[in-house]
Amino acid sequence: ATPLSILRASGEAAERGILMRSGEAFQLLHRVDVIVLDKTGTLTEGKPHVGAVWAAGGDPEGVLAVAASAEHPSEHPLARAVVTGAAERGVRVTDPEAFTAIPGQGVVARVAGEEVLVGTEKLLAAHRVAGVDAALPWATQQREQGRTVVYVAAGGRLVGALALADRVKPGAAEAVAALRGRGVEPVIATGDHERVARAVARELGIAQVHAELLPQAKRDLVRLLQRAGRRVAFAGDGINDAPALMQADVGIAIGAGTDIAIDAADLVLPGGRLSALAEAHTLAGTSYRLTV
Ligand code: ADP
Ligand code: MG
Repeated sequence: ATPLSILRASGEAAERGILMRSGEAFQLLHRVDVIVLDKTGTLTEGKPHVGAVWAAGGDPEGVLAVAASAEHPSEHPLARAVVTGAAERGVRVTDPEAFTAIPGQGVVARVAGEEVLVGTEKLLAAHRVAGVDAALPWATQQREQGRTVVYVAAGGRLVGALALADRVKPGAAEAVAALRGRGVEPVIATGDHERVARAVARELGIAQVHAELLPQAKRDLVRLLQRAGRRVAFAGDGINDAPALMQADVGIAIGAGTDIAIDAADLVLPGGRLSALAEAHTLAGTSYRLTV
């Protein structure tokens, strides 16, 4: 039977926008000493916009048109940003003839008869795209500002790159400090580039950063910490976070999230309010003490 104190804590948690998916969740959370946080959509608002466009051939609108057409079917927040950015600039977007999303890397599509890639350096390298180095100085400058850079290739050549700007959630730095105050060490895990992750970590006062992780690598990071004797919570919002959410001692789905993330989680924060993380940890401690 679920102890009364857990029921009470669960009710109190719900009032603060913290939903428990199992009675056990709080008992596990109370022991947690490290929390791995996804960056995009968890620490940041997850509502990026196109901040800048770099074009190899001097035609930024053309780059945006190709990228937005390739991204059109995608639900990924970066894809939504690219499509919206094109619409705002009055750029014409078509539907791709073929489309595949590659989690943690980007999309591969066919637009006007050409193979179009939008995504990471790794994705372009896997398709042997030439000319990626030309964008590096620009990309580095954008990343130092915390912007996510996605490359755009068509017909095997780099045609441009987009810098997507996303804001850190209000109160995120305070939420991180509150967790640390409760003895929970914050760690960032992201599929994004190391430089971007470091820029966000600086802003939030987080020392540990793990970047350029594919979904399985996020899970492996959680496992590694567990093997080192840590009790690990993982907070994330996306499909790409599901394996890590399942592996963690406590999986925390953030915001509206995806159904897959919510199914994989023990706790859900529908509002995505980060200060709820430390509040949940406090409530877990209280309810646990009352049961022993
Ligand atoms: P995060 O771990 O920060 O939530 P993801 O794992 O979803 O991010 O994506 C990691 C990286 O893969 C992104 O920073 C981006 O470079 C690339 N990427 C993923 N999906 C897309 C997409 N639809 N369009 C462009 N790039 C993408
Ligand atoms: Mg995310």
